[in-house]
Amino acid sequence: MSLDVKHIQMSVLLFGSILCFFIFIFGSILQYQSRGRKIALLHIELSTSILLLADYFAYLFRGDMSTLGYWMVRIANFLVFFFVYVELNGLNQYLRTFTYQSAKGGKVKYRCIMIMTILGMLCIVLSQFTGIFYRIDENNLYQRGPLFYISFVAPLVIYGLILSVVIEYRRIFTKMIFYALILFSTMPVVCSILQAFFYGLSLLNLSMGVCAIILFVFSLVDQNLLLVHISELDKLTELPNEHGFMHEIMLRFPKYTWHEYDAIYFDVVHMATYNRKYGNAVGDEILKEYARALCKKVEDDEVLGCIGGNRFIAFIRRNHTKDFLELLDGIDIRVINKDNSEKMQLTMKSVAGVYEVPNSNIEPRQILNYIITTCNVAKNEKHKPFLYLTPDLWEEIVRKRDLEAEIPLAMEKREFKPFYQPKVDSEQNKLCGAEALVRWDRNGEIIPPYRFVPVLEQADGICKFDFYMLDYVCQDLRKWIDQGLNPPTISVNFSRKNLGNPNLAKEIYDVILKYAVPPELIQIEITETVDEYPMEALKDVIEMLRQYGVSTAIDDFGTGSASINLLMEVPFSVLKIDKSFVDNLNDKKEKILEHIIVMSREMGADVIAEGVEERTQLDTLKKLNCVKIQGYFFDKPLAKSEFERRIRDPFYR
Ligand code: C2E
Ligand code: MG
Ligand code: MG
Repeated sequence: MSLDVKHIQMSVLLFGSILCFFIFIFGSILQYQSRGRKIALLHIELSTSILLLADYFAYLFRGDMSTLGYWMVRIANFLVFFFVYVELNGLNQYLRTFTYQSAKGGKVKYRCIMIMTILGMLCIVLSQFTGIFYRIDENNLYQRGPLFYISFVAPLVIYGLILSVVIEYRRIFTKMIFYALILFSTMPVVCSILQAFFYGLSLLNLSMGVCAIILFVFSLVDQNLLLVHISELDKLTELPNEHGFMHEIMLRFPKYTWHEYDAIYFDVVHMATYNRKYGNAVGDEILKEYARALCKKVEDDEVLGCIGGNRFIAFIRRNHTKDFLELLDGIDIRVINKDNSEKMQLTMKSVAGVYEVPNSNIEPRQILNYIITTCNVAKNEKHKPFLYLTPDLWEEIVRKRDLEAEIPLAMEKREFKPFYQPKVDSEQNKLCGAEALVRWDRNGEIIPPYRFVPVLEQADGICKFDFYMLDYVCQDLRKWIDQGLNPPTISVNFSRKNLGNPNLAKEIYDVILKYAVPPELIQIEITETVDEYPMEALKDVIEMLRQYGVSTAIDDFGTGSASINLLMEVPFSVLKIDKSFVDNLNDKKEKILEHIIVMSREMGADVIAEGVEERTQLDTLKKLNCVKIQGYFFDKPLAKSEFERRIRDPFYR
């Protein structure tokens, strides 16, 4: 071998060794997806670094007749042969982290590789004493031994086994790792065959160095790709998350070419109930199954994502939207409750907001904002299974938002005022109570509650607002009492959102105490609806209020769906029959009403009918023994001064 080639080879060996060592140091401070894989990689890099360095020294001290040269040549050559096996053992460990350790198989082959590695190492040790593979001659030069070629058998068998494992389990490797491993199990084999013909060339060792570096780089890139992929997935459903979805649609529709698609946001309904009823684990299973069922119905050109919990987004081709919305209105799924192995079949429904994406440069974030808002309106206000966003609807939404933004300041300026709608005892035609109904006096324009109470409900500002009204009413009552008037019981509406407050009754009582108002002059009205709060919460509050001497009324009775249960379970003082019941009274409705009135009397509750507008309604109600009436027939909600006149003159003529 010419001097030049020898020097080039030595430089490459030294450079390779240093590079592998740096990779080892760099790799040891890196975080890696699997600890075992990280250790295996470090093992490969360090052993390759030692292997290449030993090879370098073997060449450096070749023919050096000093004592140092004598020992260096022997030690270095031993390490070269030995560390081939150490490195192969590292490669074996690396493979194990993919297959055998994850119970995928390959156990027998790993054992064979281990055995071959140990055998190979033993032979190298043996060769030190016998010179069967190689020996160092009297000139301190390396010479091939009689069984030199046999020393290739063990590594070749090991490479063969590794190659067969890689091919057999090719499906579990990513493309990157698969190619790196194929290279690692073939390139050294080819090089060792070539080496047999070129005396003095370290092709096998060099190729092992190249493979070790490539494996490290590919593993790093692979891990990076995996992290990016994971960061774009929803953990539970494994659908793209918000970030992944945005990424996906930007890739699929470059330059906003999405005008043939509809953007849809949907919320699975009743998930809170399922979680409460079956536990969170089953709830998760339900969502996973739901996502799976939907995936089957989404076409290849469409995108489906989950932006957390029960909130999904989709880009659906416009001519497929109708079918997709039908699916959202009811799709059957099967779930196994792992606690009791019970199989359940559920029909899952969602509420959706739909936006027909136009042919313009609209930002994806804006689309998301549109569809989430539309879905919320569909769910909370319009109570529809889906809603399309139209320019009119958007204008309405913006107007409402502006209104919402004005509310805190309006409260400070006390622009919200109670109007009082009299309740009348129709036997005596005498005022027997009143309901405080809020009106917003906005620069002289009187805004009715339906325009802002739902806004407050959604923004969770309603609880504070109800206390504001209670405070206002107590203040009015205090004034009337101080003026020597004899005000009747005033009822104040409290949203059911207040039921989440465990100190509700006490806080109500504190306001009453603040104005030293007799508690019997305040009544709390709570609507009858089935919602996220269990009946127990309602029952507790009503019982505590009763202990404080404050009466309670169930508002809008007959519009919810737990009515009969409610009658029997909750000890309220008054049942307010809703206007919808009183309207268009017929024989059937009368019969039901009659029973309800009898039942609530038996439960110790008084009955009042609201929304009574006509004489005939009044007569029927009286006939059914419901004498307390609230409605336009007697009075509309009155401003404070008008109502004061009513208190002074409580008789209707
Ligand atoms: P509600 O508590 O069921 O109040 C009865 C509603 O029926 C009132 O509407 C009242 O003006 C109306 N009404 C009474 N008699 C008749 C009638 O004969 N014919 C017709 N067509 N309507 C009649 P209003 O004042 O618009 O209040 C609507 C709802 O807003 C209330 O229903 C209540 O749920 C809510 N609300 C009002 N004030 C407050 C409040 O201070 N806090 C809370 N949380 N909700 C309030
Ligand atoms: Mg009411
Ligand atoms: Mg009502």
